[in-house]
Amino acid sequence: MVDEDIGARRSALAEAADILADLIRGGSRTICFIKSRKAVELTTKLVQDKLRDTDLGERIAPYRAGYTPQQRRDIEGRLVSGELLAVITTDALELGIDIGALDAAVVVTFPGTMASLKQMWGRAGRRGRGLAVYIAGEDALDQFLCREPDQLLERPVESAILDYESEQIHLAHLLCAAHEAPLTDADAEALGPRWRLHAEALEARGELRQVRGRFVLAAPEDYPAARVSLRSASPDTFAVVDVSSGELLGTVEAARAFSTVHDGAVYLHLGRSYEVTELDVESRRALVKPFTGDWYTQPKKETDTWIEELLDRRDVLGCRLSFGRVSVAETVMAYQRKRLPDHEIIDLVALDLPLTEFSTQALWYELPDEIAADGFPREALLGALHAAEHAQIAVLPLLAMCDRWDIGGLSTAGHQQTGGPTIFIYDGHPGGVGITRQAFLRFEELVTDAATLIRDCPCESGCPSCVQSPKCGNLNEPLSKRGALELMRRMLAK
Ligand SMILES: [Zn+2]
Ligand SMILES: [Zn+2]
Repeated sequence: MVDEDIGARRSALAEAADILADLIRGGSRTICFIKSRKAVELTTKLVQDKLRDTDLGERIAPYRAGYTPQQRRDIEGRLVSGELLAVITTDALELGIDIGALDAAVVVTFPGTMASLKQMWGRAGRRGRGLAVYIAGEDALDQFLCREPDQLLERPVESAILDYESEQIHLAHLLCAAHEAPLTDADAEALGPRWRLHAEALEARGELRQVRGRFVLAAPEDYPAARVSLRSASPDTFAVVDVSSGELLGTVEAARAFSTVHDGAVYLHLGRSYEVTELDVESRRALVKPFTGDWYTQPKKETDTWIEELLDRRDVLGCRLSFGRVSVAETVMAYQRKRLPDHEIIDLVALDLPLTEFSTQALWYELPDEIAADGFPREALLGALHAAEHAQIAVLPLLAMCDRWDIGGLSTAGHQQTGGPTIFIYDGHPGGVGITRQAFLRFEELVTDAATLIRDCPCESGCPSCVQSPKCGNLNEPLSKRGALELMRRMLAK
């Protein structure tokens, strides 16, 4: 902590540079994982500065996307031979680097899931012994893990979620399977219990046809796998094109395009920053250029949820908890530019974008009067609900293998369908991939973790390490840390 009042912490990069310099002086072969390319470069420079009195500075290299395969092999070879002592890299490359085991692995800020943290740590352990370091950032989950180190070391790696019940995913995968071989009952075990039903639906849509009781692709030259993204169920995407090179960087799901690649957005891809120069809604394309400024952007949006189908329900912690399908309607109204590293607001820029709507899975819970009204100040209610929602989303990655950025939320003092105070937590991927079902099943743990997160944060009235969220569509207004704690305390007393 460098400023108790605003809860400001020393930069994780400066902390990393100290540790790296010590490891290098001690002759340890080290790999360091950092989220963004800019941070990789900055940290490399910080470490080199610290080692100026030695000739070790040349034995550190940044390792990043954009190197040619030859350059990559060269760095890998120098590291294996011991000529290089440390490599600092973006985590985007964690799977591609071929260097064997090292003496130490340093991970700067939580990489999003326990599984990837353990994978990065696994790089250390040459000769059966290794040092694994995790340097926490200011994010809520980072700070939670710091205060609850047992959670970090003893919690089983999250279950990777693949929701076999998601119709959208299943349909797309059946098409891919049909590309490999005709679908028949002989493969029913692999294709799932509802395969025939879904194959018939695809036949009705003209995508499959039946030949002697076997389902084949209606268009045999089609390659359906090209339309299936590994991360999500939605095939509808926007292309992101770097205008400086003409290169296609990747795609963004249509449902998320307006909030991530709107005009003026700063967009991170493989650890590199880009600024969106134009979002072309008609041709589903975002044009971007490399970005070197010192700000980031946060969209302000209006969100509405509508319950479409109730799939499961239980009474828990004094609330009525439901799981089902909802449609989420979103309008991105504006975006805020915020300065790094102090998050100071530069300005708010208005946007004119159409409403988007997608259907997904969600959990929602209704708070009864004895929790949300009885002696609970009315004016604090919305801030309390909102802060509780943020804290629960922050710790959800501990239960399901997902990133906070995969999840959305909405809290309201009176929802049009439930009629009372309600908190929604929804899957940000159209169709849903099972994240919120996991949270529905383990709701007691979710609330316990969220309450611990808020209770143990040393800040006075809420900070980025507890109730503030970097992706809040309401720009973190209103938030009541104390109110959220009181709500959850009442729930957990039930
Ligand atoms: Zn705090
Ligand atoms: Zn929010």
